[in-house]
Amino acid sequence: DVQLDLDDLMKTLVDPNERGSYAWIRRRIRGMWPRWTTAVKELGKKQDLGKRRKKKILVHLGLLSKQSGWKFAENQFKGGPLGELVQWSDLITTLYILGHDLTITSETEQLANILSQLPAANSPCQSRKELPVQIIYTDIVGLRQFKKHVKGGYGKFSCLLRIVDSFGTEPAYNHRPYARAHKILTSWGGNDLLPQQFYTMFPHSPDNSFMGFVVERHLNTSKSKNIERKNIAVVYGKNEYMWQGKEKYIEEIHKKLEVHGTTYIDNSTKPNPKKGTTPKPVHPIPNYVVNHGLLTAEDFHVLLRQAKVFVGLGFPYEGPAPLEAIANGAVFLNVKFHPPHSSKNTAFFKGKPTSRELTSQHPYIEQFIGPPYSYTVDINNMGEVEAVLNKVLNQSSKFESYMPYEYTEEGMLQRMNAYIEHQNYCQFQKRKSKWPPSSAVTYFLAEQGLDCKEACWKQNLICEPGHFLELNSAEKFSKFGKTCAQEEYVGDIFYPAIDDKNKDCYFQKEEILFSCVGKRDYLKRLCPCRNYIKTQTALCQGCD
Ligand code: UDP
Repeated sequence: DVQLDLDDLMKTLVDPNERGSYAWIRRRIRGMWPRWTTAVKELGKKQDLGKRRKKKILVHLGLLSKQSGWKFAENQFKGGPLGELVQWSDLITTLYILGHDLTITSETEQLANILSQLPAANSPCQSRKELPVQIIYTDIVGLRQFKKHVKGGYGKFSCLLRIVDSFGTEPAYNHRPYARAHKILTSWGGNDLLPQQFYTMFPHSPDNSFMGFVVERHLNTSKSKNIERKNIAVVYGKNEYMWQGKEKYIEEIHKKLEVHGTTYIDNSTKPNPKKGTTPKPVHPIPNYVVNHGLLTAEDFHVLLRQAKVFVGLGFPYEGPAPLEAIANGAVFLNVKFHPPHSSKNTAFFKGKPTSRELTSQHPYIEQFIGPPYSYTVDINNMGEVEAVLNKVLNQSSKFESYMPYEYTEEGMLQRMNAYIEHQNYCQFQKRKSKWPPSSAVTYFLAEQGLDCKEACWKQNLICEPGHFLELNSAEKFSKFGKTCAQEEYVGDIFYPAIDDKNKDCYFQKEEILFSCVGKRDYLKRLCPCRNYIKTQTALCQGCD
């Protein structure tokens, strides 16, 4: 059953050391708890949450470990990246409130300790049903630590893994031999899991599972009530470097609005040991900007409620803050990328296991939300910036807030509960039935040159990689009036597909290479597409 008492979770989330690793996570969970309990009760009215088995779940936050070297814990209150901590906080809350039995670790010693209690991989009387955990959530750093410590038992546990992977891992980068052969193998990829075992922060390639997070809201608190919207723009940039090179753009906004920032200023410049001098800090923030410094979540939201626009600077990519701005009624100015940013041309994405191309700072908002809540602008074209500002400031819609269901507490609970109940990557765990069910899936022969993500989206459907296997035969092509002249089995990300010119058909040889995002100019792909619930894109209709 569901768990409505927070105390046990707080006892589970005890810092493993003096670094205060869980401080930010604990604070977020505590602050949002009342909303979570309301949400789970609401969901319980819509669907039966009673008949579920309690699962044993291990959550290992590799990003917080000393070995990661990332200093997430050290920078959580100093403008460091918070998107990942947001996602982990919400995942932990979801699992707990849905009633599961959690073990949470973030240091390798803790993990090693737990894994040492596991039965040896070759123990004869150890059947897989007796595994001490049923699901393991970790990240790629955690996965490396896991592999090292579980040693021979990895094969047995790999199907229990769910990898929290904010930017996603495409099949081509995941399959180690393929990635190596195509020279795209990096330290993030080559894990040879099923692509759906990677859980992303936004719905990227449908090859991965979309996990998401919750967009925080502070409605009806004493501070946030009766706030008047003023002629204010808030700039989206927690660190000074994000402002660099954006002077003209900010100046254009300043012509019409008072500009505010919430940027952490680091005044602790280190002495230069060689010359014995201290370098002069560079402050790229114009003097006219009212900088509040990094605010607490609630104060940040109060500021957003006073603002008319929230101004993107092009970095960070796909953070939570723009969705919070829109939820508070501020219009988000999304930075257009032309050409798109990807691992081919952008340092940040180098080595990330995806060839996804970002057409703006926040593609989710561009694709799924758009005007009047957000406009995507070329920030080097001042005419365009001015026109968009005029549109926003003169708009008749009165800075209404918008919040997609999939980013609410209830939406996340519904989605994750469906995953926990239905997703199954282990052959030895009995599948109740195929999920998502065939009734939600339609097959299409894509237009030449399109991948399945694009082909399905054109039909207002979503590529469903779990149903590729049924399509992998010549008989399926005949349903579309195509007779194969030749049939060939190849391990590559484009298949099943037909070369319409010579009628050669290609089928998939490697199951984990089935992909929604592979395409070739000369190929027509066969695609499984499923329907979805509007603003809950991860689920098909009736699949909760
Ligand atoms: N945030 C905050 N105070 C501020 C600015 C931002 O608490 O002054 C919060 C914001 O509410 C959001 C989180 O920081 O939930 C992450 O923000 P961002 O979109 O910048 O993503 P990141 O780059 O940290 O992943």
